[in-house]
Amino acid sequence: MLGAMQDFDLRVTHLIDHAAREHGGREIVTRWADGSETRTTWAGVRHDALKMTQALRRLGVQQGDRIATLAMNHSRHLVSWYGAVGVGGVLHTINPRLFDDQLEYIANHAEDQVLLYDRAFAPLVERMKPKWTTIRHYICYDDGQFEDWIGAEDGNTTWAWGDERDPCMLCYTSGTTGNPKGVIYEHRSTMLHAMTGLQPAIFDFDARSVMLPVVPMFHAASWGLPWSGAAAGIKFVFSAVNDPAVLCELMNREKVTHSAGVPTVWLATFQHMDATGTTLPTLRHAIIGGSAAPRFMLERLMKAGVNVAHAWGMTETSPIGTTGAKSWDWDDLTFEQQVDIKQMQGRVPFGVELRTVDLGDPSIVLPRDGKTSGALQVRGPWIIKRYFKAESDAAASPDQWFDTGDVAILHPDGTLQLTDRTKDVIKSGGEWISSVELENAAVGHPGVAEAAAIGIYHPKWDERPILVVVRKAGAEVTAQEIKDHLARHVAKWWLPDAIEFVDAIPHGATGKISKKDLRDQFRDYKLEDA
Ligand code: ADP
Repeated sequence: MLGAMQDFDLRVTHLIDHAAREHGGREIVTRWADGSETRTTWAGVRHDALKMTQALRRLGVQQGDRIATLAMNHSRHLVSWYGAVGVGGVLHTINPRLFDDQLEYIANHAEDQVLLYDRAFAPLVERMKPKWTTIRHYICYDDGQFEDWIGAEDGNTTWAWGDERDPCMLCYTSGTTGNPKGVIYEHRSTMLHAMTGLQPAIFDFDARSVMLPVVPMFHAASWGLPWSGAAAGIKFVFSAVNDPAVLCELMNREKVTHSAGVPTVWLATFQHMDATGTTLPTLRHAIIGGSAAPRFMLERLMKAGVNVAHAWGMTETSPIGTTGAKSWDWDDLTFEQQVDIKQMQGRVPFGVELRTVDLGDPSIVLPRDGKTSGALQVRGPWIIKRYFKAESDAAASPDQWFDTGDVAILHPDGTLQLTDRTKDVIKSGGEWISSVELENAAVGHPGVAEAAAIGIYHPKWDERPILVVVRKAGAEVTAQEIKDHLARHVAKWWLPDAIEFVDAIPHGATGKISKKDLRDQFRDYKLEDA
């Protein structure tokens, strides 16, 4: 016997139809790189996306073809998300911060047909054009080119139809080792993920929400915001530049209630706020993820009355994995205890399952005891099964567990506490030292702007940590002061053997510290007692 409910494939075009129908007048504001501003609405975005669908068909784009973007956050980019999936294509958001060889690899590997790009990236496009072998059409978003292109159409068309398991989006991981790998999302997985994003512990949207996403549309599907935002009919405020002064001005003028970004964005914003006395009185919900949010950051936002969702996820998990959901006894906890909880990576929403396994023997599943750390694995309907074009090579085990490459502790209530990445943990005398915990403790010192811990070869201990530190401008903090500060936060045997001050720490394409480059930089480093 079959159930007898309606056929309603979970296709992401339903999201924009809903937004235009139920929240059609809600604004989408863009502050462009040249300082100008435009305003459209969800109805306008849908109409333009339909026109783009027609324009793509005119270019000969077929269902399943990849349509790439190389762009910052703005309304035309949002239109393209829906236009690309509307024609039945696969949206491929390229990260412009990748290195040339990675850019060459991913566009060719994806077999992109069309590329839409910001004028700011025109030099990059010109440089790469001879190397990109599949792109047939280049369309610039600026100087009226995008408007002219879709302006030739009337929007009187329908979305391409198909199966809910069809692909709709392709995102590449930054590939800190080897070539970047493509993660190919489906309509169904994206819809389930978008609906999950609406939960209070994640984006906490309702129709009054005004969101300024700082997370770029080219990074990890922008955490699903362009999809979830449509489902809730929120107002979006986009900034095509990431200047904290511009972001703060926009947040206050447009009465932004929600924001999302990696911790470094908040660091820069705080610096601007302190220098200018700016406050953000309308902000009430901030999603921070992508790397660990330091304690002082959580404290500061929480004290300002902002509900912080400290989230963990990765491109392979669409990317929502966990967020800082409040526990049942939240209201009975002290502020300090609440910060303790927020500093961890939170709990899963329905749909995601986590477990940890032994770092040496993955057949041993570890207890959720709040103590034992192991390799973090994840499964669920929006978690990767296999990488793009890796048909014979599953990314997950037969029972669907995907190895995240993260090291974590699971607590009895399911709270996830990330302690490191498998390749970054420091092994000292057979025990593990978490580089992340050392870094978090170090940036809690007022004189430290950024810190990174890496393992250095030691004949007796195998590895010992050193801490590489960038001082805050004007700060004269010494190695001993940092050591004393660390001693109050970590076990004695975790204390770095040396502290090295540098002007800058290398970052990868997604803005995270590149431990690989840092390790290369310190390859010949010798510890004093080694
Ligand atoms: P990339 O791998 O391309 O840098 P991802 O966004 O896919 O980009 O990176 C995912 C990784 O980022 C996770 O596996 C984890 O190591 C790290 N990460 C994400 N969120 C957090 C968080 N809240 N705390 C600590 N690390 C995080």
